[in-house]
Amino acid sequence: MHPQLEILLELQDLKAQKRELEEAAEEHVHDIEKKVFQVQPEDAVAHLEAKIEEMENSLDPEIEGRYRRIADRSARPVVPVLNGICYGCFMAVPTAMTRTNEQIRWCEHCGSFIYFVD
Ligand SMILES: [Zn+2]
Repeated sequence: MHPQLEILLELQDLKAQKRELEEAAEEHVHDIEKKVFQVQPEDAVAHLEAKIEEMENSLDPEIEGRYRRIADRSARPVVPVLNGICYGCFMAVPTAMTRTNEQIRWCEHCGSFIYFVD
C-alpha cells in the first residue's frame, strides 16, 4: 500500500477514535468514578489531536490539500472500493482504473480517496 494512503487511513481511524473519546468525555463529566481511568478522556483527546496534527503535516502538500478539503465535509475521506463501486458515493469507478493501492487515487464522482479491497 502507498505509504501516504496508509497515513490517510490511520488519520481517519484516529479521528474516529477521537470522536468516540469526546463522547465518552461528555458522558463521564459527572462520573465520580472517573479516577479509575489511567488517562482521562480529555487528555486522551488532546494526545490524539497532537498525533493527528503531526500526521497531517507529514502528508505531501498536494495530498494534504485534497485531504483537508474532503475531511471538512466528510467523516470518511478515505473509502473502500468493493466490486468496482466507490463506498463514498456508491457510483462505479471507471473500470479502466488499475486496481492497485500502490498509488494514491480518488473517486472522480465524490472526490474521496479510494482503496481497493476486491
Ligand atoms: Zn465516490
